[in-house]
Amino acid sequence: MNLDWLTPADRLKTLPPYVFARLDELKVNARRQGLDLIDLGMGNPDGATPQPVVDAAIAAIQDPANHGYPPFEGTASFRRTITNWYQRRYGVKLDPEAEALPLLGSKEGLTHLALAYVNPGDLVLVPSPAYPAHFRGPLIAGAEIYDVMLKPDNGWVIDFATIPEAIAQRAKILYFNYPSNPTAATAPREFFEEAVAFARHYEILLVHDLCYAELAFDGYQPTSLLEIPGAMDIGVEFHTLSKTYNMAGWRVGFVVGNRQVVQGLRTLKTNLDYGIFRALQTAAETALQLPDVYLHEVQARYRTRRDFLIQGLGELGWTVPKPQATMYLWVSCPPGIGSTDFAFSVLEQTGVVVTPGNAFGKGGEGYVRISLIADCDRLGEALSRFKQAGITYHAGDALVSGLRSKG
Ligand SMILES: *Cc1c(COP(=O)(O)O)cnc(C)c1O
Repeated sequence: MNLDWLTPADRLKTLPPYVFARLDELKVNARRQGLDLIDLGMGNPDGATPQPVVDAAIAAIQDPANHGYPPFEGTASFRRTITNWYQRRYGVKLDPEAEALPLLGSKEGLTHLALAYVNPGDLVLVPSPAYPAHFRGPLIAGAEIYDVMLKPDNGWVIDFATIPEAIAQRAKILYFNYPSNPTAATAPREFFEEAVAFARHYEILLVHDLCYAELAFDGYQPTSLLEIPGAMDIGVEFHTLSKTYNMAGWRVGFVVGNRQVVQGLRTLKTNLDYGIFRALQTAAETALQLPDVYLHEVQARYRTRRDFLIQGLGELGWTVPKPQATMYLWVSCPPGIGSTDFAFSVLEQTGVVVTPGNAFGKGGEGYVRISLIADCDRLGEALSRFKQAGITYHAGDALVSGLRSKG
């Protein structure tokens, strides 16, 4: 039977192609050729979930009381643990009944928030580059996206002065994320104050993704949007357990902030899912209550890798700014080569996977993102392959034309 009539809905057609799909194809080819891949492409932490969290999950799974449908809005106990954590970390007092909502990972919530708050044709402000869910969610909801272009000269921080008055007037939501994936940039507290003033003036909902709340180094403490006076009136903040606690596969995150917005998302989700398996909520509570020494270990692991890779790339001619947070390095491509060509060539020549910056929007062109998700031995192996293949920043025209001719 001819199934040409069976086409997906228009909302799928608005999505830009996933650069990751092409990258996956190349990875499969490389593996087939017997290349030992070093995959620094994904934001998938390589460590194990802390043992106390695993133990709590095992015990909770043994209890039949946890086997039924969980409450839509998450267990009261997990919501209280979330709001206690906020009080402890940021000194922000939240109502566990109305201002906190557990999520099936923060990506789920970030995307569904757009479905709950965007009408087709609404204008949504999204930085470029950005974490893909920040623009793909609104696109699915039928939004028109305005790219707020980020620049290296002001540290990849949003410059509100570049947003035209007519755009600000029309905008309904601003998604943003500091410490940032993919740029690894951090923003000062004054930036958050500016964001709140901007959003209150133009009546824009602020959606802040604080995914890297705890992966910060050298004494730097990321700012919570909700610490800023007036933010609760116009903002929500998303968190995940995926990165801090090596729990990416468990699918647990949460949103906190303005109660009307949290309730709107909850209403939508009541129609879509049944929330998180209770046993996982118990495990997540254990994670949020781990002693700080655990955090210090995770931070030290990424900091060591960061310093090692920056040093090694430096020997190959790259000047990479030292990020104060996240698990990424944001590295400029050699002059004269686009980010897709560069990432694909690096993969073909060395078996090292890095993500082309334009996967995060056109503002990421000219850069690649390297995830610090391998130990220093493997990172050292990646560096020596770069050296052998002549992949250096100052290699000049010979390298660039060499890469180009490989397509
Ligand atoms: C990894 C990541 C997420 C996804 O988190 P999940 O809770 O695993 O869905 C969300 N936002 C940013 C910026 C990320 O880097």
